[in-house]
Amino acid sequence: MFNKLLSFTGGIYPPENKHLTENKAIELCDVPEIVTIPLKQHIGAPCDALVKKGDKVRLGQKIGQPRGFVSAPVHSSVSGEVKSIEIVDLPNGSKAPAVIIVNDGQDTPDESIKPDNAERLSADALKSIVTEAGIVGMGGAAFPTHVKLSPPDDRKIDILLLNGAECEPFLTSDYRLMIEHPDDILYGLKVIRKILGGVSRIYIGIEDNKPQAIKQMTAAAKNENDIQVVTLRTKYPQGAEKQLIYAITGRQVPSGGLPMDVGAVVQNVGTAAAIAFAVRDGLPLYRKLVTVSGGAVREQKNLMVRIGTSFREVIDFCGGWTEEPAKVINGGPMMGVAQYTLDVPVTKETSGILLFTKEEAAVREVSNCIRCGRCISVCPIHLMPLTISARSLAGNYEEADKLHAMDCVECGSCSYICPASRPLLHSIQMAKKEIMEERKRRAQAK
Ligand code: SF4
Ligand code: SF4
Repeated sequence: MFNKLLSFTGGIYPPENKHLTENKAIELCDVPEIVTIPLKQHIGAPCDALVKKGDKVRLGQKIGQPRGFVSAPVHSSVSGEVKSIEIVDLPNGSKAPAVIIVNDGQDTPDESIKPDNAERLSADALKSIVTEAGIVGMGGAAFPTHVKLSPPDDRKIDILLLNGAECEPFLTSDYRLMIEHPDDILYGLKVIRKILGGVSRIYIGIEDNKPQAIKQMTAAAKNENDIQVVTLRTKYPQGAEKQLIYAITGRQVPSGGLPMDVGAVVQNVGTAAAIAFAVRDGLPLYRKLVTVSGGAVREQKNLMVRIGTSFREVIDFCGGWTEEPAKVINGGPMMGVAQYTLDVPVTKETSGILLFTKEEAAVREVSNCIRCGRCISVCPIHLMPLTISARSLAGNYEEADKLHAMDCVECGSCSYICPASRPLLHSIQMAKKEIMEERKRRAQAK
């Protein structure tokens, strides 16, 4: 089994550009004098502040309490004093209240930080640690991890997939994590296995452009009979959940469905490591592994950054830029968000900070669709991007919904391949937003 490279249909092969950082060992970024910690760094409900101006806080102290189940607490990434609570810009383009803390430079740990041993803890106790540690999907989606680890009783999960694909060009933080911390990843994976219970097969999926990571993870898992490292074809978006599940198991998540509908749970390698740090070391999620790359940054790096450090400070730590970047992106070039300011904080969602030169950021001119069909052939979900986009641009969101716009995973493959540079992704995102609004309106009217 698995003697050929696994993959999915569709997808694209953009230049990988991982050579800039793949051999750069993880470094600790300088800890700033002031951190800005947003109370919403995840999908779901925001947190309420547990502190106020003038309060003393400790490293790892919970400072944000979730308002709902689909949410995640936030913690202080330094010890010091709360300066204020303000609305700030976030790197995902939204705004949220944030706790601004003046760092006292002491890193005095909170008393809640207590190392433990996963083997002696029950599945419920482990899940509660994951919940309290504020762990979210570390691949960039930031979906609260405890929610994914709580499938309803009528969904039997028999397959656990660990996502080490890291298919976005430029990004190498997962790659370095697999090389430098394979045992932490494995520890977290075993915690996930215990929490889910009943899992019979576990796969660690890694693209074939990461042979060193495949070697390290295979060695780490050599004594685990139910865990298998599988090699995936290097293709974008191989790391999207549905594509990963299909590539490894052949199971197809239905339209509008979730991985749990086909008995699968997918977690990122970074999430597994964060779980190890939380359970074994008692540390909540207060730092994030970030790749800083692109042609305009002076020194490309993989950095462990305290949450709340500004993009500007992270870039300064990399020596600034060699030329003013034409574009700065939060995340990877395919799914990331362009920034208009560097005064935004690193959050749990930040997987990369890319500084592009003029050439790298070159914008192509938009022209008329030439009906070449390339956008259809690359769509990993088998959608009709040109038709959905046309309906969206005409304001006909009902038709876009009928064409399954909501199934779009926003991978950007269609926009990337389009020779006419049509705004496919952007218009489909707009359709999704409008469809969601309409669904909410209808639900409220009932
Ligand atoms: S329609 Fe959506 S899922 Fe399909 S290629 Fe475009 S962005 Fe990706
Ligand atoms: S790839 Fe672009 S030009 Fe070709 S069919 Fe799709 S929208 Fe039209």
